[in-house]
Amino acid sequence: MAYAIKAPARYVQGAGELDNLGLNTKKIGSKFFTIVSAGGQKRFGDRITASLAATEGHTAVFATFHGEATKEEVAAMIASCGDSGCDAVIGAGGGKVLDTAKAVADSLNLPCVIIPTAASNDAPCTGVAVLYNDAGVVVKALMTKHDPELVLVDTELIAAAPERLFACGLGDALSTFFEARACHKNGVKCMARGQVSNTGLMMARLCYDILIRDGRNALDAVREHKVTRAVENTVEATIYLSGVGFVNGGLAVAHAVNDGLAYEPQCHDMYHGEKVAFGVMTQLVLEKGDPAEFDEVMAFMKATGLPMTFAQLGIKELNHENLHKAAEIAAGPKESARNLIADLTADDVYNAMLKADELGRKFLGE
Ligand SMILES: [Zn+2]
Repeated sequence: MAYAIKAPARYVQGAGELDNLGLNTKKIGSKFFTIVSAGGQKRFGDRITASLAATEGHTAVFATFHGEATKEEVAAMIASCGDSGCDAVIGAGGGKVLDTAKAVADSLNLPCVIIPTAASNDAPCTGVAVLYNDAGVVVKALMTKHDPELVLVDTELIAAAPERLFACGLGDALSTFFEARACHKNGVKCMARGQVSNTGLMMARLCYDILIRDGRNALDAVREHKVTRAVENTVEATIYLSGVGFVNGGLAVAHAVNDGLAYEPQCHDMYHGEKVAFGVMTQLVLEKGDPAEFDEVMAFMKATGLPMTFAQLGIKELNHENLHKAAEIAAGPKESARNLIADLTADDVYNAMLKADELGRKFLGE
């Protein structure tokens, strides 16, 4: 089978880079439908307007995001974007703002500019828009026709976001290499609609190497809202390499475990990257690989506070029925866990999660 590679058209990252938005969007459009929360507009809306206005005639039309990327919210945004006569869409904010911007741009065939304000997951650099219902449950993952035209990351905004969000990004990025390695080995078709290329695998590996080298120091700096070299490197790993690495590298057990844990109500307060991180441990148990590699992963998770045990995932009382349901979902016929082991069973995942919890407790000295 052929291999394929897919990525945003352009990626820009640096401290204070939001003020260069206008320079970077000169050729993308002139009237920008800008989706942002009320709080976001207050914090940096003026900077967006000023930066765009540096080019004569370039303006922003702000649209306030109300909190959920639902079909209704997206439909309303599409109508209002259409009425506005804008020729490009900007999404500036967290994952749900970005998903909404991607869906609006896709529907109207407009170029999309993505400005993430946190480095908490893989959303910015992918052409996937996840839509939810009012209760916050995922109803659809829309594959857009094009990847974002520009992803602009201002590392000062990223370092100003809560430390836990930054750690979640480390968790999501921790999975990228292990999942890509499984997909590469097993000849799986990835989201770029081809087999995993050497490039895809290499990006995923670089993501992991940067995390292990700089991730801890970066988290320490973000705790004090500082942008250091380690922060810049780590943001490149968590926003660019992890996103593009997953699109071109594929998913396996770690993300399937995240999907399964949605069925354990005690985990509801956990973020995507936190559940994925526990999924990495589950995958490594199933792979029965190099113990030194497992130790390196656990040392990283311990140092960055990522959940290594059920207790850290918010599971106060182990409910075997819920956990088995989570394992069933994770091992489902359409789940990415099958990319690691084609005939994986729910019991395999269930036992691997129990083992991961046991190893995590041991590693933490509990
Ligand atoms: Zn993810």
